[in-house]
Amino acid sequence: MATLMALHAHPDDESSKGAATVARYADAGVHCILVTATGGEAGDILNPAMDRPDVRENLAEYRRKELEDAARIIGYDEIVMLGYRDSGMPESDDNANPAAFVNADYDELLGRVVALVRSRRPDVFLGYDSHEFYPHPDHLRVHALTMDIVAAAADPDRFPGAGEPWRIKRLVASLFSRRGMLAIHEMLMERDGESPFTEWVERISAGDWPERPTLSVPVGPTLQRGRDALRAHATQVDPDGFWFKVPIEVTQEVYPYEDFEIISGFLPTTEGIGDLFSGIS
Ligand SMILES: [Zn+2]
Repeated sequence: MATLMALHAHPDDESSKGAATVARYADAGVHCILVTATGGEAGDILNPAMDRPDVRENLAEYRRKELEDAARIIGYDEIVMLGYRDSGMPESDDNANPAAFVNADYDELLGRVVALVRSRRPDVFLGYDSHEFYPHPDHLRVHALTMDIVAAAADPDRFPGAGEPWRIKRLVASLFSRRGMLAIHEMLMERDGESPFTEWVERISAGDWPERPTLSVPVGPTLQRGRDALRAHATQVDPDGFWFKVPIEVTQEVYPYEDFEIISGFLPTTEGIGDLFSGIS
């Protein structure tokens, strides 16, 4: 059975990065496994309607339940929680918590992800790019794991107690798509004279956001599922906020793709519109 494994930092990241893509492959019969590193305990409550004392006191439980709902909407077959504590935003007090993801011994952590890869045997592994636009310490840790996982899981001399070595066929990182954002921004400016992406487009123009080798996966039919999954994170996502500023009809028309940085396992000609599983049966 074709298998996809996605590694994410917090509950809600699986819904804001590549959700429509995973939904597409889940619908096609791919076995989809979600690995979430932390419980998202340090997240701010970003939805005014959910900012209540009972939610604040039980945030980890709320976020776990939201994650289960979102994963069901996307079509994941399995959720694995690594159980680390959310490390919080850069320079926050949460960074120093000994249980924080960022303070876990890196080799032990890599060994745990290697054991998961060796037991689940994914063909495609979905991780994070280098995250210049959002340097959250937990996201940077997922990026480090992403860059190490293929070699570590395949090497019989590393983590010998963690199962039979397994070679992941393809490695990609979810991208906050530069070209998608530019396309939607231009369309909205022309149509409405305003766009939620103005600040981002300025950063792109300033050159602090490099283009990377990119595979664009068509996700028109499952875009709505991605948004529904994001909305299931009711404590984290303001239904009137950034993620929902672009009408879905606009995305459907202008850029019905999710973009991934190609890291390894693809032919040099793969860039452009394509399929994460092409040639893998
Ligand atoms: Zn996150």
